[in-house]
Amino acid sequence: MKSINPHSGRLIRSYDTQDDTQIDRQLAMAAAAFDDWRRSGFADRASLMKRASGILRERRQQLAELMADEMGKVVRDGIAEIEKCAGCCDYYADNAERFLTRQTIPTDAEDSYIAFDPLGPVLAIMPWNFPFWQVFRFAAPALMAGNVGVLKHASNVTGCSLAIQDIFRAAGFPQHAFSSLLIESANVERVIRHPAIKAVTLTGSTPAGRSVASIAGAELKKTVLELGGSDAYLVLDDADLDAAVDLCVKSRLINGGQSCIAAKRFIVDKKLRPQFERAYVERFARIRHGDPRDDSSDIGPMARIDLRDQIHQQVEQSLREGASLLMGGKVPAGEGAYYPPTVLGNVKPGVVAFDEEIFGPVAAIIEADDEDHAIELANQSPFGLGAALFTRDKARADRIARRIEAGSVFINAFVKSDVRLPFGGVKQSGYGRELSWFGIQEFVNVKTVYHA
Ligand code: NAP
Repeated sequence: MKSINPHSGRLIRSYDTQDDTQIDRQLAMAAAAFDDWRRSGFADRASLMKRASGILRERRQQLAELMADEMGKVVRDGIAEIEKCAGCCDYYADNAERFLTRQTIPTDAEDSYIAFDPLGPVLAIMPWNFPFWQVFRFAAPALMAGNVGVLKHASNVTGCSLAIQDIFRAAGFPQHAFSSLLIESANVERVIRHPAIKAVTLTGSTPAGRSVASIAGAELKKTVLELGGSDAYLVLDDADLDAAVDLCVKSRLINGGQSCIAAKRFIVDKKLRPQFERAYVERFARIRHGDPRDDSSDIGPMARIDLRDQIHQQVEQSLREGASLLMGGKVPAGEGAYYPPTVLGNVKPGVVAFDEEIFGPVAAIIEADDEDHAIELANQSPFGLGAALFTRDKARADRIARRIEAGSVFINAFVKSDVRLPFGGVKQSGYGRELSWFGIQEFVNVKTVYHA
């Protein structure tokens, strides 16, 4: 597996993949580690998790530089990502015991209660876009619940994968409580089917989710799927336009546009659409894209050349299907996987920019006749991850929020994950939840104990 710097196109390092014997040995060690780890107490787990958060904070600069080199994230954003991971470790260290405390339920028994037991080794298949955050938001609750983690990270961020394994080991976790497998996706089926693996979580694209869920389904192993999104941002006729444009621009450019919960479709009331479009293009034109290690860059390159080329194909296809190019849309000359901030107007259902997820800095502006039409357009997507609404009327916002088919709706704010709130999607954006107490309860056996 190769780590290639998307800014320079240079090879950083190649890694040998593990063969079947090495995989089997590692999974057997994960199973053995689980036998001990499940018997550890919450206080011991919490103190190791606090050490992991301390190590993350100590190493934040070097970890952010590693992300910049492997997948092009601007260093400033990388530091924020590492801080968020540390906060997630602290949150579950502080709250896991409370979330998983046995609950006594009065019945006709002398004593009856619900206990939350860990499941065992959980396979985590993770993407490159937030190479630390995606892993920690799984690992912190899963380990605190008494499970062990086996990570199959995206093939272009193996350095990040090994750095995460090292953080848990340096914090004092048992060696195989968390381990990284170096395998390509073609070998994932074997791991899912391995008897040591008890459950699977995947954050990634919808096709990957479909494949993983069907194999895990055949094995009757639980899955959590955090998949793609095409979040709709509804700008209603009573919105504060300046504030809405500001948040819509910020959200579209999270992580260079490579975020599942980045705003992707801007559904704007027809009364505001021309002004929105002008203001949006003005703001987008000020974005500086360049070397992710340079403090003056707002966004870096796309994570890989093939992903950049795919974005460009989707833009060209959208133009053929009737969208108009308001800015950007040309692959720049020179090294690196760069794609310019691009704005498409006149986007409608049936146009790729409406129907598919575009995983880069490409905004699709869609005109809505009125509130009902805006809701209909928002829901006319195979995805259902997040959505945002811009209106000055709280009651109207609450009413519309309940009609939107998405795992979260943010009002006058952009969609973001918060360790205290559940995160996940509906429809082809997946199922199950991460974060909050819902996240830690995904990988436990909710056990009824009944004393006659
Ligand atoms: P991806 O190609 O699906 O890869 C994600 C992970 O799955 C990688 O580790 C990849 O390994 C593995 N993988 C790919 N195909 C597989 C298969 N058929 N069987 C088993 N494993 C497979 O996605 P990506 O390009 O890295 O990430 C972008 C996608 O992730 C977007 O659609 C984005 O919206 C979604 N995403 C969702 C969330 C969320 O929380 N809902 C968060 C972040 C990203 P290899 O690298 O070895 O192929």
